[in-house]
Amino acid sequence: MITDERIQGIPATALAREFGSPLYIYDGDVLAARMRELRTLLHSRLEVFFSLKANPNISVCALLHAHGARAEVSSLTELRTALRAGIAPDDIIFLGPGKSRAELAACLDEGIAALVCESFGELALIDELAAERGTRAPVAIRVNPAFSVKGSGLTMGGKPRQFGIDEVQLLAEPDLARRYAHVRLMGLQVYMGTRILGEDTIVENTRRIFELAERLSAVTGCGLEMVDIGGGLGVAYFDGEQDLDLRSLTIRLNPLVDEFAGRHPDARLIMELGRYLVATAGTYVVQVRYVKESLGERFAVTDGGTHHHMAAVGIGSFVKRNFPVRLLSGDADPSGIEEWNVTGPLCTPNDTLARKVRLPALRRGDLIGVLRSGAYGPTASPVHFLSHGYPAEVLVIDGRAHLVREADRPEDLLSRQRLVPSGALSPLTPAP
Ligand SMILES: *Cc1c(COP(=O)(O)O)cnc(C)c1O
Repeated sequence: MITDERIQGIPATALAREFGSPLYIYDGDVLAARMRELRTLLHSRLEVFFSLKANPNISVCALLHAHGARAEVSSLTELRTALRAGIAPDDIIFLGPGKSRAELAACLDEGIAALVCESFGELALIDELAAERGTRAPVAIRVNPAFSVKGSGLTMGGKPRQFGIDEVQLLAEPDLARRYAHVRLMGLQVYMGTRILGEDTIVENTRRIFELAERLSAVTGCGLEMVDIGGGLGVAYFDGEQDLDLRSLTIRLNPLVDEFAGRHPDARLIMELGRYLVATAGTYVVQVRYVKESLGERFAVTDGGTHHHMAAVGIGSFVKRNFPVRLLSGDADPSGIEEWNVTGPLCTPNDTLARKVRLPALRRGDLIGVLRSGAYGPTASPVHFLSHGYPAEVLVIDGRAHLVREADRPEDLLSRQRLVPSGALSPLTPAP
């Protein structure tokens, strides 16, 4: 029973033949459907900002933008990516605890919607840079809230953090909004964590963020032209996890947004989403190079590995948890299902994409897909480990496959290195 899975009608083997493997494939239909679903179900006043951190590919960004996403960026390159993808400066916000002078200057020069400021020191620097330009910088304050709501993979609030300014510190600054002549304090941002799969958690976070925004605005004089409620919506990766039900979530979320929006008719309300927008659209495709056994366990050694997909290592838990893995092309005979370790070419035992997963009998040349891999893939992985470099990325739109990232070649990787002149290498001298 030979299988050859299709992405929008294109067989996986055809994609691997044309673009080589290992390979990231993004399904544009899935990306578009995600945006459509959000725009249909989310309160119309809530704007979706794509966090490029989750997938900085310019074409992925452009596609999401074509379906209504704006951009949340955190580096100069992410800012340039969003602009080049066609996103208007007024639909971009810049966030991050350690922005450089050059990054802040670029934000002001491009005229983006808001600089999300994370410390008093940064506020002073923004004021200085805006003064030099004879302008007033639109600044939203990122708040480190005193509360935390359990239920996210990584909880942010209520802890000492390098992110944002503590709620209590802001409450102790009654004239913050008037202190900096060249800063227009126009909004607030709170990000409560990532990988949130609990509906209750999201609803409770949002309720408390809106309440906090009004309280902080009243004390500090900070405007509420923009209130960014973060996001961090998760997707299910592992056994026992369940995807959010967006319809059910928005039924509870929208009334909160409606109430706040009604009290603040001119406020721009923002939700930042990274993983939720891109994760399910991506598949990491690897090809089996060797099959072998060791002490009773089966190994499929593939051409791809954790240097392209660090998240698949399953860090953050004691037992390795596997991403969903599937045979894309090969013999899918169900009577041959066995336990496999899917590993890569790196010289470390950590290079295990999946441990003891049930797959059909694998053979050299089979294609295996690591599903739900569109977020925090190569961008969040040590792609330079063993000098393998970035993999190719392909975006499929309307049944056509577009190469949107070339794989690094050895000459690309070596071009950034410098060999010292041979004269600088000390000749071999006997030790004294
Ligand atoms: C990482 C991050 C995001 C995106 O998080 P996801 O969980 O991928 O949606 C959004 N906002 C901030 C401040 C972040 O640090």
